[in-house]
Amino acid sequence: MTLKIGVIGTGAIGKEHIRRITHKLKGAQVVAVNDVNTEQAQAVVRDEALQAEVYASGVEVIQAAEVEAVIVTSWGPTHEEFVLASIAAGKPVFCEKPLAVTAEGCRQIVEAEIEAGRKLVQVGFMRRFDHSYRQLKRVLEADTIGAPLILNCVHRNPQSPSSDFSGDMALTDSCVHEFDVLRWLLDDDYVSVQVIQPRKTRLCDDELQDPHVILLRTRQGIHISIESFVNCQYGYDIQCQVVGETGTANLPEPPSVPVRHAAKLSSGILDSWKDRFIDAFDVEFQEWIDATLRGEMTGPSAWDGYVVAVTGDACVKAKYSGRIEPIELPECPDFYTN
Ligand code: NAP
Repeated sequence: MTLKIGVIGTGAIGKEHIRRITHKLKGAQVVAVNDVNTEQAQAVVRDEALQAEVYASGVEVIQAAEVEAVIVTSWGPTHEEFVLASIAAGKPVFCEKPLAVTAEGCRQIVEAEIEAGRKLVQVGFMRRFDHSYRQLKRVLEADTIGAPLILNCVHRNPQSPSSDFSGDMALTDSCVHEFDVLRWLLDDDYVSVQVIQPRKTRLCDDELQDPHVILLRTRQGIHISIESFVNCQYGYDIQCQVVGETGTANLPEPPSVPVRHAAKLSSGILDSWKDRFIDAFDVEFQEWIDATLRGEMTGPSAWDGYVVAVTGDACVKAKYSGRIEPIELPECPDFYTN
């Protein structure tokens, strides 16, 4: 069986996903595409030799008879409209983060999905599919180090991740991956946040605060520290250490050959999120294709997208208030726990 997919947004990551579905993964075919830049959409169809129709709008892709499932990789502010339209059409939809640019927008998607009575939405939080995070989760689930007490996490980019990176995007755009993967890792939820603004690096835009330290507390009382430093210069570096009652567990480092040379021992550090998570994206999409063909939705849900948006908003509030701010969430609906 082949899942026939429509892709909305053929920019950087849309192209990557089209390539992986077409040339690497099994069980799916891109049959429809759209981008506000029609020429770009046409170029992708030509370059990847797709048997796909280029539609004039995202909504037309969703409504196209041949499209069985939708991937949304357009500009963030357009996601909400396309996800709601996919739910209305009864079509499974994979949406790159953010699910919507406001928590209220995410909540409306949650309500629409519950109203539809069927799980249709998956959000692109790919770290849950990363081999090393999955290994770390297995160690915690096996109770090897006792109950987790403290998490020490690091999220570093060599330079700001995009040319339009500004304001509080470190909290609302980059750290969203930390917020999602850590609550998944711990099977817990956040209750409060404090944001510290340390001495600012001179090596970034004058307007940007960088780094930040984000201190989260979970329902179980676990203390999480996330250092977000998006202009660290030296590489793309993601770290996570769990301190438990009887030991610690660290996220494995990406494999690299240790070299002994000229009186030095060295090993490489990656410099891009694309290299660090390329395998995770493959696993994420293969599992989404397989689950969708079975009529299931097993990855990060619309509820997860909503929780991350609420957490991001609380971080921004905490940054400017300088106080510990509560992270207030309604009870997770049964729809998402069953
Ligand atoms: P991008 O290169 O700017 O691509 C976005 C594309 O969407 C552009 O071609 C843009 O056209 C198009 N677009 C804008 N509005 C549209 C509309 N109404 N209908 C159809 N197409 C529209 O950005 P990107 O880096 O691919 O990012 C896309 C999304 O993926 C973002 O939400 C981003 O946060 C997310 N993302 C996630 C990850 C991850 O780690 N999971 C990594 C990268 C990106 P114009 O350029 O002409 O405006």
